[in-house]
Amino acid sequence: MIAALMPNYNRANIAFAYGEGAWLFDERGRKFLDFGAGIATSSLGHGHVHLTNAIAEQAAKVIHVSNLYRVPGAELMAKRLVEASFADSVFFCNSGAEANEGLVKAMRKTHADAGQPERYRVICFEGAFHGRTLAMIAATGNAKYLAGFGPVVDGFDHVAFGDIDAVRAAIGPHTAGVLIEPVQGEGGVRPAAPEFLRALRALCDEQGILLGLDEVQCGMGRTGKLFAHEWAGIEPDVISAAKGIAGGFPMGAVLAKERVAKALVPGSHGTTFGGSPLASAAGNAVLDVILVPGFLEGVAVTGRYLGDGLAGLCERFPGVFSEVRGMGLLRGLKCVVPNTDVQAAGMEEGLLTVAAGENVLRLIPPLIVGTAECDVAIALLERTAARCLAGTEVGAK
Ligand SMILES: *Cc1c(COP(=O)(O)O)cnc(C)c1O
Repeated sequence: MIAALMPNYNRANIAFAYGEGAWLFDERGRKFLDFGAGIATSSLGHGHVHLTNAIAEQAAKVIHVSNLYRVPGAELMAKRLVEASFADSVFFCNSGAEANEGLVKAMRKTHADAGQPERYRVICFEGAFHGRTLAMIAATGNAKYLAGFGPVVDGFDHVAFGDIDAVRAAIGPHTAGVLIEPVQGEGGVRPAAPEFLRALRALCDEQGILLGLDEVQCGMGRTGKLFAHEWAGIEPDVISAAKGIAGGFPMGAVLAKERVAKALVPGSHGTTFGGSPLASAAGNAVLDVILVPGFLEGVAVTGRYLGDGLAGLCERFPGVFSEVRGMGLLRGLKCVVPNTDVQAAGMEEGLLTVAAGENVLRLIPPLIVGTAECDVAIALLERTAARCLAGTEVGAK
């Protein structure tokens, strides 16, 4: 008989009871170093007192009121994001996919309002991941995610990641804009070259189309800047954020320049839960931590330290790891053996990681980790690699 909880995941047989910082403890009392952070989401780690107090205090006052009324916490959070970023205005929702839906709707509506409703198509990239709604599986374009779900939602074209000539060739009279992850996460921790992002910005300006960025995974401080595109020195027209934005409380956001944001007039777009008092309290608590001067620089420094440690692992274990990827605390180890085997072996050693495309093992710890946790992670990855090699030998006999 089917499980009461729908079996659409291959879940590891571990149930966590509580966490402290970068550590999680399961029901049997086993301890795990969490370098997965609930897929780059538990940005302040577990049991962060400032975050848990903010949530508890707000929950006791009022959890939800709807967007029929003002929500001061959401107004404050939007103002802080605007002050800290390229954006003029912010829409809050509840997930990454929902943020990307809002982003694409805002792009289309911007052109429609400018008298060009025929500009509805968005150019996306091979290896992308934009979420699981019907439109976002089309934007993702991965055959595995589309299979069985009927006609593919129209309006998305795909070109090779990093190929500016292919983007240029794909632009036509129906193109509304481009949507790209500055660092592809699920696709295998693949950063776009800064020159490519700058070339995209210039091309979008030249063609009168919009540059949209999916910063759901690489944004909110993960690369050591509030948003990953800042490394390239460009300003997008609109971006999506989610994952780490409220430290694990469900929240998404669309951040936009005025000319895009003003397309979403009352009645044109909405959400029941988005930017609730409770979500905003969690989001503001995260901002309280990550916007402290020096915090994001610290993420960049720790990220480099982790990257160096991972490079050393590749040298010492060429039979397991071949390459380090990524930036800040969004790192990938390309594996020589199946990444899911390495992930499982790591779990046996007490290290949580996340698999990604191109046989990459993702290391995406809470942003509050320091070099000490990175040292432990490297030591656990050494034991993991040794375990994988031993397993290969056993298999070979
Ligand atoms: C996780 C992710 C999404 C989807 O977010 P959900 O909250 O699962 O809907 C979209 N884009 C990127 C880049 C992501 O990493």
